[in-house]
Amino acid sequence: MSHELGKLPYSYDALEPYIDAQTMELHYTKHHQGYVNNLNNALSKNPELSKWKIEDLLSHLDRVPESIRSAVRNNGGGHYNHSIFWSTLAPANSSNNAPSGNLCDAIDSQFGSFSNCKDQLCSAALSRFGSGWAWLALNKVNRLEILSTANQDNPISDGMCPIFGIDVWEHAYYLKYQNRRADYVNAIFNVLNWKEISERYSNACVLASALRH
Ligand code: MN
Repeated sequence: MSHELGKLPYSYDALEPYIDAQTMELHYTKHHQGYVNNLNNALSKNPELSKWKIEDLLSHLDRVPESIRSAVRNNGGGHYNHSIFWSTLAPANSSNNAPSGNLCDAIDSQFGSFSNCKDQLCSAALSRFGSGWAWLALNKVNRLEILSTANQDNPISDGMCPIFGIDVWEHAYYLKYQNRRADYVNAIFNVLNWKEISERYSNACVLASALRH
């Protein structure tokens, strides 16, 4: 079994004007595809690992042979992070522009308001030096946590469950926004798929609760 690039759930221009079509196409067909190819290449000499799901590889990097551990961490992370990213974006839609259900309640109770939560996410995205991601994750004690990771690291490698992430590599925004990362990060809030993100949160809670029993 090899890892595959999932289908993009919308067209390259669907997130315009917030994310331009050229960036989307390059990001998906070159960057994400590159991570998938490099991951499969790294795993090709380890048939036993090729049966592992991407989540299992990234949660147990210590069990991956040292000779390919960095390649799996970087390219497996790149594949997993971008798969989450595409699924948690959607064309701007006023009926899908805020958290709902359990996630809405958890954000209000932990951050005071969605607006505070957004500010903290933006701050995590802007303070990441160089390339990386800002995340909303469910941590080991089942609380929401905002954090950033370097490169293509994912919170799953630290025992957390990623709810959604903002890609702050320059390849995600440079063509349209150049050095203005703050403009890109603010713009992306117009195209977050809160239905999907809220569902990912509910599923993560169910999974976490099952693991504890
Ligand atoms: Mn990217």
